[in-house]
Amino acid sequence: MRAPSAVPVDDAVLPFEVAALDVRGRLTRLGPALDEILTKHAYPDQVGKLLGEAIVLTTLLGSSLKFDGRFMLQTQTDGPVSMIIVDFVLPDRLRAYARFDLARLGPGMAAGALLGRGHLALTIDQGADMRRYQGLVALDGGTLEDAAHEYFLRSEQIPTKVRLAVGEEFRVEDGPKHRWRGGGMLLQFLPKAPERARQADLHPGDAPEGSELHAVPTDESWAEAQSLLGTVEDVELIEPDLSSERLAYRLFHERGVRVFPLQPVRAQCSCSRHAVSAMLANFSPEDRAGMVEDGKVVVTCEFCSSVYQFTPEEAGAGAAAPGSSSPQ
Ligand SMILES: [Zn+2]
Repeated sequence: MRAPSAVPVDDAVLPFEVAALDVRGRLTRLGPALDEILTKHAYPDQVGKLLGEAIVLTTLLGSSLKFDGRFMLQTQTDGPVSMIIVDFVLPDRLRAYARFDLARLGPGMAAGALLGRGHLALTIDQGADMRRYQGLVALDGGTLEDAAHEYFLRSEQIPTKVRLAVGEEFRVEDGPKHRWRGGGMLLQFLPKAPERARQADLHPGDAPEGSELHAVPTDESWAEAQSLLGTVEDVELIEPDLSSERLAYRLFHERGVRVFPLQPVRAQCSCSRHAVSAMLANFSPEDRAGMVEDGKVVVTCEFCSSVYQFTPEEAGAGAAAPGSSSPQ
């Protein structure tokens, strides 16, 4: 037993357990790492906030995996933000980007309107010899929190609640500059008796008309944990001076909360000249030739905006006839 640490730590995940409620959780605070990823692209505010939430969610989900490999979150939708990719290379490297249509962005658009309709894919890739696992959920005008809940209800069948928050911090000493900050919390109900984790049925879908939904009362412990999570405000999740331990303690001190070692995360892209060169080798000769502009081939990493330049010979585009296609 000890007092919660008052020292806030950014860019880290704090796993914790509330044994009395059969609940496990993770709390994350992202400061410089989130700011670095979002600032490289100068996203409009609402796009930055949405992508930030996707990064916080990916951090919460990916940090629980105990293997070498990667965890990816990807959205593909028909809204102004048509694609989001967050790539978490375990154990700690994050990178991300969003594609958006500036002309379709409106003031004050919420996450659901920005995304529109489509799907969210969560991919676990444990490396070359292992099977990839992919879970898909529909995005239908809801938030990323909604999609995460839907995912856990359908795919994992573990009662799970997630909170995500992203905001901009203005400090006097920074002058006009702002910094992005994000935070989030995930709770999962993992009772020893599996019947306690049963959840209400999904929407009946094509069930015959008049058939009754099977009602499952929520377990009292899980109801208590959810109501405590419901008291967390966005500002507490991103507040730079409030430590994760203090926030966990504020919520669960009556039940007792046990914390585990912090897991650091950082913003780092995995692109390299070698990797880009290998990617070019996969294009057809015509495509490579079509990439030559002003006597060179220039490839910009969509994640980190690093620019890689090749001569046509280096890019394998020396001999073929010029084409008109370009890489994605
Ligand atoms: Zn890169």
